Amino acid sequence: MLNVPPQAFPAPSSQQRAAAGGRAKVPLKPGRSLMDWIRLTKSGKDMTGLKGRLIEVTEDELAKHNKKEDCWICIRGFVYNVTPYMEYHPGGEDELMKAAGTDGTDLFDQVHRWVNYESMLKECLVGRMAVKPITAPKEITSVSEEKKQLNGMLPKKKVPCTSSKDLTPSYDWFQTDSLITIAVYTKQKGMNADSVILDCEDKRLRGEIIVDDYSYLLEVDLNHAVQEDVAVNIAEKVGKVEIILKKKDNVHWKILGQPLENHNTFMKRTDRGLFYRKCKLVSKTEVTHDTKLFCLLLPESTHLRVPTGQHVYLKQIIAGTEVVKPYTPVLPFLPLDFQEPSCHDSAHIYLMIKIYPCGLFTQALDHLQIGDYISVSSPEGSFKKSQVQTSEELFLLAAGTGFTPMVKLLNFALTEVSCLRTVKLIFFNRTEDDILWRNQLEQLALKDERFEVQFILSQPVRDWVGKQGMISSSLLSEFVKRSRKDSKVLICICGPTPFTEQGVQYLKDLGYSQEEVHPFTA
Ligand code: FAD
Ligand code: NAD
Repeated sequence: MLNVPPQAFPAPSSQQRAAAGGRAKVPLKPGRSLMDWIRLTKSGKDMTGLKGRLIEVTEDELAKHNKKEDCWICIRGFVYNVTPYMEYHPGGEDELMKAAGTDGTDLFDQVHRWVNYESMLKECLVGRMAVKPITAPKEITSVSEEKKQLNGMLPKKKVPCTSSKDLTPSYDWFQTDSLITIAVYTKQKGMNADSVILDCEDKRLRGEIIVDDYSYLLEVDLNHAVQEDVAVNIAEKVGKVEIILKKKDNVHWKILGQPLENHNTFMKRTDRGLFYRKCKLVSKTEVTHDTKLFCLLLPESTHLRVPTGQHVYLKQIIAGTEVVKPYTPVLPFLPLDFQEPSCHDSAHIYLMIKIYPCGLFTQALDHLQIGDYISVSSPEGSFKKSQVQTSEELFLLAAGTGFTPMVKLLNFALTEVSCLRTVKLIFFNRTEDDILWRNQLEQLALKDERFEVQFILSQPVRDWVGKQGMISSSLLSEFVKRSRKDSKVLICICGPTPFTEQGVQYLKDLGYSQEEVHPFTA
């Protein structure tokens, strides 16, 4: 069955998903980088062989183009001639050929659903598969015939799978002279501020409620304008989320507004398109010789908190092409006082980013001026706080900027996990100058006796007296040790892909179970 999107062409609300990942799985030939691909697409070359014509593609026609030298792939209803892209694909030609002549949407989503194929392959667009007619959107009113929609009862066709049905949230709305309150009933305990992502721009309201691995979305073109400051209240015990909007004019609203395309849908989080909002760069400070701390300000009408262990995607237009890369938010500094959960400023997102001399994305990022805007996605990631909540010993293996997920994790562990006896960070870097927040880490180790840090350098210079080397089985057996035979242990690992992969393997060989090891990946 082909996945045909019901949108207009090109999709107006299309989530321009992230572009090429930072790592090549196969070595690409010289002259086949992402930048080279962007240049080729701008060269005016006929990439489809159709001289710019767009055609409607049947399944039979698609199936005919299944060879390396003539390869078409359908993604979300759009068909691309990927033949010229073969040599530029970071995952290699064979990976791309797995979808040749077929609908590659599922395969694509499994491997790198955040890659922005719409922008990257726009010159390769052959056309689209047949489109089903769209039903006109209904108004969301408070009158009885709309009662079902008003109460957020999901039309059957929109329930994506039976297992999620029982969990389907519903919503209601009411008003006073000055406020509009939208109440979402998630039927789940333990909802918190991290579970709600709210954006309200002009009259367009988008409220995403994360319920475990599912996402419930309210997406409405509001009937009247509202003020910029939005508020979110959560009744954790009953799982009720209230979105509170301030009316701009104190008029009575007859309806909440017009539902937008994905309004009132409940689906797997990973099936939901990434949503971006523009954030303002408010400061950029040096952390080391090549790494900077970027502080981004969220719009006033956005409520978004990036949970511990999750990342966001940044999106920039580089040479006319949308490029997206993942980054893991950190705290502005390492808090040293862990007596109480610290009250984090939720208006800013801090990113610690290494600027690579030839890096496509990081070079562009480094050229941003204070006051410039950049698109930031909603958070993603598989880490769950519950993994650490029952641990007695936490080991963090970080290499280079793989330190970033450890920052919030450290803070969370030392502040909120009472059963933790020890937290040990083993931090791998090339040289002393590359160590991120060394001072802060050393201070933290002095301040909190549960915390210990060990620096290991792969290219030490001068008189480094500490440990040296790369990740290895012997090194891990020395540093990652249960203090008691039955200790509940969690080991988190993050860094360059070979580092993470080797680490996971060594830990497995050392007898740690899959549940005890969490590798951070895209
Ligand atoms: P590219 O143009 O892709 O590469 C240019 C050159 O830079 C390469 O030849 C290589 O020499 C070097 N290089 C590029 N990427 C890497 C890499 N990943 N490892 C080693 N060398 C590389 N980075 C951060 O700085 N901070 C973060 O918080 C952060 N979080 C991430 C979270 C996730 C989930 C993932 C998967 C990656 C994260 N990264 C982070 C890496 C980031 O996404 C980019 O890969 C990185 O910024 C390089 O992008 P670029 O376009 O500048 O480099
Ligand atoms: P780097 O090149 O400076 O290397 C830091 C250390 O990593 C080295 O000293 C070495 O000990 C180890 N290392 C490097 N290459 C290795 C290899 N091939 N095999 C074994 N060990 C190796 O690191 P960097 O430039 O700061 O890169 C950090 C990496 O972390 C990037 O690849 C980035 O994508 C990744 N990262 C991932 C996430 C995530 O959540 N998945 C978050 C942040 C960063």
